[in-house]
Amino acid sequence: MNIVIVGAGIMGITFATLAKELNPSLKITILERLSGPGKSNSSVFNNAGTGHEANCELNYTPVDEELIEIEKALDIHAQFNVAKQFWAYLTNEGIIKDPASFIHPTKHCTLVHENSIDMLKFRFEEMTQHHFFETMQYSEDHDEIKSWIPYTMENRPRSEKMAATKIQLGTDVNFEELTIAMAAHLAKQEGVEIHYGTHVKRVHKNPIGRWLIETTEFGEKVQHKADKLFVAAGGGAFPLLKLSHLPERTRFAGFPVGGRFLLAPISEEDAKKYSAKTYGKAKVGAPPMSVPHLDLRAANGKHYLLFGPFATFKPVLEKGRGFVEYVRSMRLHDIPSLLNVALEHFPLMKYLISETFVGKAKMLEDLEAFAPGLASKFNWEISPAGQRVQIIKDGDLQMGTEIIVSDDQSYATLLGASPGASVSPEVMLRLLEQFMPSLLETDEAQTKLKEIFPESNLKILENDAKLYRKIRDDVNTSLKIC
Ligand SMILES: Cc1cc2nc3c(=O)[nH]c(=O)nc-3n(C[C@H](O)[C@H](O)[C@H](O)COP(=O)(O)OP(=O)(O)OC[C@H]3O[C@@H](n4cnc5c(N)ncnc54)[C@H](O)[C@@H]3O)c2cc1C
Repeated sequence: MNIVIVGAGIMGITFATLAKELNPSLKITILERLSGPGKSNSSVFNNAGTGHEANCELNYTPVDEELIEIEKALDIHAQFNVAKQFWAYLTNEGIIKDPASFIHPTKHCTLVHENSIDMLKFRFEEMTQHHFFETMQYSEDHDEIKSWIPYTMENRPRSEKMAATKIQLGTDVNFEELTIAMAAHLAKQEGVEIHYGTHVKRVHKNPIGRWLIETTEFGEKVQHKADKLFVAAGGGAFPLLKLSHLPERTRFAGFPVGGRFLLAPISEEDAKKYSAKTYGKAKVGAPPMSVPHLDLRAANGKHYLLFGPFATFKPVLEKGRGFVEYVRSMRLHDIPSLLNVALEHFPLMKYLISETFVGKAKMLEDLEAFAPGLASKFNWEISPAGQRVQIIKDGDLQMGTEIIVSDDQSYATLLGASPGASVSPEVMLRLLEQFMPSLLETDEAQTKLKEIFPESNLKILENDAKLYRKIRDDVNTSLKIC
């Protein structure tokens, strides 16, 4: 069986790595338009590198008066645990030489002002009843919060009432390094070909049911054939779905949201002082991916502080691609969906358009409000982030990720981007179950699955505290993040 994957980001490369571990005889061809793996949204500063496990992101626990929903937070936490199981396996197998090349322990904190203190306390009380969040701490004490996240408190008047939660053991993940490590391993495997500089222009099925993939490879026209086609092309998945003639193509349209961060290099000394990711509360009308946060990041052996994201309305499929390509990817049947979203989500549109024109001075002002004194302490530059293309499904805007598998199980694609890279191994495992169920049925694959994932059932992790704690501690030890 010949499998073609479009896109060498974290998703496509994770899928290929997992599939190949389960069946080493698979033939896989990966086609990537850029010059290497993990260079688009998975690239280090195109995303925030938060190992999303719902420790600190308020948008995963919506509060409605007296009610707080923690189901989504439980799911994401369990998914991230499954992701760590996969990365621990890769490390134990020597596929990843040093986990510190991509994953770093860091505190995950939430910081709120006076009018959200009751909500944060309520959230803390509800969440700590579950074993996933049993280590969460809560404080309203200025000095204690300052000891957790100094940069956000140092120059803040003591009279300003604040509250914070902290989970000591969260992570910062460099998804680009992780993707590079997996791609390097794949490139050495028999039966795997990775073609960089290869732009997939069109995909269609021939009369005998094989997919024909038309590409330009360094300017030359080249055709590939596949029995199974997985399009893991980020925002680039939308135009290929439109060209696929699959019935699903009319149900989905893309709503692009760009982003920018403020980024500052800092010394090792400063990095020791602030080892945290601190999430605040989104502004009214802002989309969930615009929750402000101040993160310590590690890349290329150096340390950085990252603040943002500042959302922008940028009608392109991916960073570096043009407006014309986005427009050409649309079909007449998309127009009512886009208009519906524009009308139904008018405050969001207004917010995105106004944020697009925000300059550096205003961005620094926002930083100053989040962490007083920090704007002038470091040398901040604007760093353009990746591009999310949110899903519009049947006319409704969605914030999550959607796996689409054709009825004949020959075409699969992934749309949307949240919570994204953090949960990629769990999402790819579910995709394999739907897209290539026969691959998982063999005794060899079942044995391997148990070796890779001590427990991948999210509900079992959620309900069996003892098992969860054992797996958590084992994988953290393998990943050297305890
Ligand atoms: C601002 C921002 C912040 C984020 N923060 C976080 C975070 O803190 N934590 C987290 O877990 N996630 C975060 N994410 C989400 C995360 O970046 C994505 O979920 C993840 O990178 C998606 O991986 P991917 O492989 O699907 O896409 P990509 O990494 O974009 O890979 C897709 C690949 O497909 C290629 N491609 C596209 N079209 C074609 C074509 N026609 N032919 C050939 N190749 C093609 C592209 O060049 C690209 O390399 C963030 C995203 C953004 C935008």
